[in-house]
Amino acid sequence: MRYAILADIHGNFDAFQSVLQDIAGRGGVDEIWCLGDIVGYGPEPSACLALLRKYPHICVAGNHDWAAVGKIDTVDFNPDAATACKWTAGHLTSADREYLQDLPLTVTRGEFTIVHGSPRDPLYEYIFSTVSAAGNFQNFGTMHCLVGHTHVPSVFMDSEGLCLKASLPPVLQLGGGRLIVNPGGVGQPRDGDPRAGYAIYDEAERVIYSYRIPYDIAAVQDKMRRCGLPVYLSERLSEGL
Ligand code: ZN
Repeated sequence: MRYAILADIHGNFDAFQSVLQDIAGRGGVDEIWCLGDIVGYGPEPSACLALLRKYPHICVAGNHDWAAVGKIDTVDFNPDAATACKWTAGHLTSADREYLQDLPLTVTRGEFTIVHGSPRDPLYEYIFSTVSAAGNFQNFGTMHCLVGHTHVPSVFMDSEGLCLKASLPPVLQLGGGRLIVNPGGVGQPRDGDPRAGYAIYDEAERVIYSYRIPYDIAAVQDKMRRCGLPVYLSERLSEGL
């Protein structure tokens, strides 16, 4: 079986569509594993939800998903994120709201625990550093954990109590130790590369492949301008920051 690992689509329909086309071009997958934040920031939250739901998939809740339906507060959001959240809330259907509200915080699939932020704090904690990663290895019972939230493709390895960090390589062979893997962000990459980031897990090969996919950033920026979304949020897409 093959699984697409997608995080942080963030209402960016063009990026999401380009990623799905790329997946199809690679022979497709059996299921999509979505690591949360389908909505928030981007101009097409409802279209992204509808597209995701056409595919066999599992999905966990991200902070933006639950903030958009009022399940959590936006006090921790920066002003642009809070503005976008309010805009998103006004552009969801009742079916969208129901779907987002019912998302679980954690899902287990085979040797993976799947969360948005971190296993010990699924909605809010960012795993940027080896310190935060090291503190999380005891918080999941499976061999590996998949996280999003930082929008930075990365891998953390638990090596006899020592935690190591690397950027996610194009080909990651499993079997060498416990890992926390972040596939990067589909709809708002933040590692300086504006292309959409995602990964495919090939269960038979026990390999995670990671990809960067160009998409029409200018088209999304134009949609964001027309929606009146904060200018900084559209500008950052072309910087990948
Ligand atoms: Zn996010």
